[in-house]
Amino acid sequence: MLKINEIFLSIQGESLATGLPCIFVRLTGCNIRCTYCDTTYAYEEGTEMSFDAIIEKIESYQPINLIEFTGGEPLMQLDVFLLMEKLHMKGYTMLLETNGTLSLKHLPGYVTVIMDVKTPSAQAEIPVNSDNFHRLIADKDQLKFVISDEIDYKWACEFLIANKLNHHHILFSPNTSSLQPALLAEWILRDRLPYRLHLQTHKYIWNPEARGV
Ligand code: SF4
Repeated sequence: MLKINEIFLSIQGESLATGLPCIFVRLTGCNIRCTYCDTTYAYEEGTEMSFDAIIEKIESYQPINLIEFTGGEPLMQLDVFLLMEKLHMKGYTMLLETNGTLSLKHLPGYVTVIMDVKTPSAQAEIPVNSDNFHRLIADKDQLKFVISDEIDYKWACEFLIANKLNHHHILFSPNTSSLQPALLAEWILRDRLPYRLHLQTHKYIWNPEARGV
């Protein structure tokens, strides 16, 4: 059983798979409280669902074969690893969006990680777990940073160098409530960084406040 906030089909908007149709499985619960969180409804709201019920819902979107586990923080519920195994046996491709504070030790290698490393403006209570960096595969996994201002930008650049993670896929995503994408683009180009400017595609397609998209 897992406590599920919502399962829906949408367009991938927050990873290298941006633009592809994707089934989102949003798990209930998060172990931190970011200042800019746009999914506060996932902290508590949800329904206990059996694996069979979850898989039935996922299969209702056939032939879409891409799934993203998101939250909240999906690794709060360890049974998610069992669900991943069942879905792997069925041939699904899986992405995990995680804040990186919980261990990835038991995460199967076939799941692609999108680690949303919290920048200073998030004021997260728990730092990212550096043991997880060993699990990241440079040509597959991704590190995402929500950038609210130049302090966040400089912090993220220094973090990547200090942890020797700058050769991974890096996504810099502006917090558009406080930073214009054009300004972030200017900084990336000014500093000649090989990092992606990343926009939350689904918020351009639909109302930024809309749920289930
Ligand atoms: S980790 Fe994600 S779900 Fe949790 S508080 Fe931060 S932004 Fe919200």
